[in-house]
Amino acid sequence: MPRKHRRLPEEPPTSPRRPRGQAPLWALVPWADIRRVSGDKPYRCPGCDLEIRPLSWHLVVVPRSDPEGRRHWHEGCWRIELNRTQGRRRDRA
Ligand SMILES: [Zn+2]
Repeated sequence: MPRKHRRLPEEPPTSPRRPRGQAPLWALVPWADIRRVSGDKPYRCPGCDLEIRPLSWHLVVVPRSDPEGRRHWHEGCWRIELNRTQGRRRDRA
């Protein structure tokens, strides 16, 4: 049976994409401001202890009570961290 040759629409009706700079909803926690950023410097991710490469998009987590304690995370590492801590703030070592 013949297949209709159909092009995909240019844009999906509702784009799941959120504006740049806005963290995905799953990443948000009540105790910190979280933004999606890319920088021109490398950062060390506290989740995997590896470098976040310059110009790659990642998350920056800024505790509301301690803005100096901000950390840069790979998105995947932050997801794992949230699963582990259930969204609570981990005590600082
Ligand atoms: Zn990481």
